[in-house]
Formats: sequence, structure tokens, C-alpha cells
Amino acid sequence: MNTKEKDSKYIMHTYGRYNVALKEGKGSYAYDEEGKKYLDVSSGIGVNCLGYSDEGFVKAITQQASKIQHISNYFYSKPTSDLAEKLCALTPFSKVCFSNSGAEANECAIKLARKYSFDKYGKGRNEIISLNNSFHGRTITTLSATGQEVFHNYFFPFTEGFKIAPANNFDALKDLTDDKTCAVLMECVQGEGGVNILDKEYVKKVRTFCDEKDILLIVDEVQTGIARTGKLYAFEHYDIVPDIITSAKGLGGGLPIGACLCTQKLGEVMSPSTHGTTFGGNPVVCAGANYVLEKVANKEFLDEVTKKGEYLKEKLLKTEGVKSVRNLGLMVGIELKDKDAHDIAVKCVENGLLIITAKNLLRMLPPLNISYNELDEAVNILEKTLKEN
Ligand SMILES: *Cc1c(COP(=O)(O)O)cnc(C)c1O
Repeated sequence: MNTKEKDSKYIMHTYGRYNVALKEGKGSYAYDEEGKKYLDVSSGIGVNCLGYSDEGFVKAITQQASKIQHISNYFYSKPTSDLAEKLCALTPFSKVCFSNSGAEANECAIKLARKYSFDKYGKGRNEIISLNNSFHGRTITTLSATGQEVFHNYFFPFTEGFKIAPANNFDALKDLTDDKTCAVLMECVQGEGGVNILDKEYVKKVRTFCDEKDILLIVDEVQTGIARTGKLYAFEHYDIVPDIITSAKGLGGGLPIGACLCTQKLGEVMSPSTHGTTFGGNPVVCAGANYVLEKVANKEFLDEVTKKGEYLKEKLLKTEGVKSVRNLGLMVGIELKDKDAHDIAVKCVENGLLIITAKNLLRMLPPLNISYNELDEAVNILEKTLKEN
């Protein structure tokens, strides 16, 4: 049996895959088992932020793996504490809790918000308001938080205590809050929900309102974080400081990690044995993440991401068959003129461009260090594909 046949026989069919088995990669290019070359503007859904097999990244993780590959969280680990220190130095936050994925980081944020409220106000103040079209993960609780009806199926009962507000409507959010509300959870740019960029005024109003009511503002930066939008974290575009953010995808540069960060005020809420994970903060993954932060967390790199985003948008807008483009940095959604985005994505892959979709949009999350020439090539393949179909 080949890879695809084995996958189909032995792996649960939770994903509709493109018809490609990827074998290796370098920079922005991946190669399948037959040796066919692909330009990748999806980077494993915004995970491989430095592309494939970045030399320094590979060195950082292999060196760490050859020293010590894992220790339990009952012991101290230098790469892990270094990463926490770096994250806090680069942000307004003062404490970190590591996990292995975005969903887990959000679980931690939810537990933290509820415990803060429990400690201060007692039982019953535990509701969290999230936004329509959001995506927060696949656990039973993060599905509850996800504001898309299609996800609220089959797996009943879901975790209670979540309400969904329409995005960018401050009055609606305000109306949904009451004395049971402990937190508001939002993505500044909704990725899976269709690259929807929240209004600045709205986010600022929510921040002020939350401050007045001692409601915690949680920003899910799982997709938007790690320089994806041209800032280290997307909330920086909004002139606000959330109480809690969650980070994952790009943070590990390709290895699994999640992080929940909080401000000083929440730093002591989670006490021993209130939360934990076997793998969270793994030294190999943290060594990789430390390298990622060294590369991306500087003004020069961040400004390049912004410039590349603008460059790509301009090119896409000149492409026949493209109706509109929305982007913040290198988080890019492309609306097509009367063509099905998924069909076009499949054809792009056949033409050597790895691209994904979100709702009815084509979506690009290229490696952050992609070159201008590679961006040109991506647009050319897309243009050709749109012409052919
Ligand atoms: C991908 C994503 C998640 C879930 O992350 P996993 O690592 O798949 O658990 C949560 N929130 C947002 C905004 C995401 O894009």
C-alpha cells in the first residue's frame, strides 16, 4: 500500500485531504513523494513561519534533542524558562502557561478566567462571550466557545457557559453580558471564520467596557500571533492590552506548542495542581520556539511582513477573477468572482501551489520569510489556474 492508501485505510477520516503526499521541503517549497515541487503559501496553516527546514531552526531543535528530549513538568528546564522570559519581555504579559496546541492554550485561558472570577466573586460568575464566526479549537469546551453552528453537532452535551455575540456590534455584546459574565473571548482577525478583521473602535470599546465590569478580555492569537499580521501579536494593532492571550501555530515554527499568557493581575490565579500537561513546555519544542522569536520579534522583520502583505494584496487585486482581498500582514483572504474557492484551491495544488480556504475564500498564510519573487510566483500560478477554470 502507498501512503495515501494506508492513510485511507488506517486513519480516521476527519480531514478531506488534497491528493498530495508531501515528503520534504526547503524554504517556501515542498516536494511530494514523486518529486513534484510545490510553492507553499499555506505553511501548514500558518505554522511553518520560517518555511521548511530553516537551518537555524533545525540546528536549535536537533541540538536540544541530542541533549535532553523531554523532562516532566516536575523539573526545571532552561529552554522552557528562557522562552517564558522572552515572551514576557516582548509583550505586556508577566506569566505563561505552556501546552501543546491552540485548543489547549484556550482551555487554559478559559480555566484561568473562570478561576479568577471564582476566587474574587464566588460561584456562578463563569460565562464567557465569544463572537460569531470565531474558531477556538476542537475540544468539547473550545467548540462551545466557537461561534459557528456547524461545530455544535453530534458531541452533546457541550460545555455550558458560553454565549455568542455578533462581531463588531458593541451594543449586542453589552446586552449579552450580565452579572454572570467573567470574560470576553475574541480573535482580532478571525482566521477560520473567513479572515474577518475586527474594527478598531469596536475592540477598544469592548476593552473599556470589560475594564469597567472586571470582565477579562481574552484574545485568541493562535493564528494571528508570532508576526503573522506584521506585529508580534495582532492586539498591538488595536491600542489595547488584553488580560489574557493564547498563542500556538507559528510559535513552535513547526513543532507543537501552545501558550497562555496573562497580565500581572492574573499571575497567581493558577496555583499548583489546578492545571497541567505532560508534554507542555517540552525542551525541544521550546528550543525551536526560542529560535523563532529571535528571528521574527524585531521591527525590521515585522515591517517586512507588513510590506509583503501589502505587496501581495496589490498583486492579487490586479489578478483577473479576484473580486476582493482582505489582509492584515501575511494573513490573506481572497474572494473570487463567481468561482468556488475550494475547487480553485484543488486546481492550484495540481498546478504546484499549496493554498487553503476559509469559508468561501481562498486563504494564504505564507511563510513569513517568503521572498517577493516567490509571492510573484504564487500569484502567477493562481492567475493561470483562474484562467484555466
Ligand atoms: C487553529 C486555531 C485554534 C486551534 O488550534 P489547534 O492547535 O488546532 O488546537 C484555535 N484558535 C484559532 C484562532 C486557530 O486558528
